Amino acid sequence: MHELSLAHSLVEVVEESALKAGARRVTLVTLKVGELSGVAVAALQFAYELVTADTLLAGSRLETRSVPVTVYCPRCDREGALASAQRFRCPVCDAPTGDVRAGRELEIETIEVE
Ligand SMILES: [Zn+2]
Repeated sequence: MHELSLAHSLVEVVEESALKAGARRVTLVTLKVGELSGVAVAALQFAYELVTADTLLAGSRLETRSVPVTVYCPRCDREGALASAQRFRCPVCDAPTGDVRAGRELEIETIEVE
């Protein structure tokens, strides 16, 4: 299960920076999840609860923020968010474009500690 290994690496990264900061406990982790990242948020939440037990993150919350797919259109010379991640066309002029500028990310945004 992809989300389980993802949750494991997330915990590793968060624990490392929490320890560096001298924290005793992590209370909240927020994560940016691009719509193209392929991450199932519900599965990730479930995996997060499993793997955070007995770590500095035990009992902490995981909040995810969905990042829409943004493409660059050379015809309009601008970036725009796709209406659907199944349809790679400019939202303004409908020209096909595969120049993805956002939506693939999977990044820790903030970590709250005590
Ligand atoms: Zn366009």
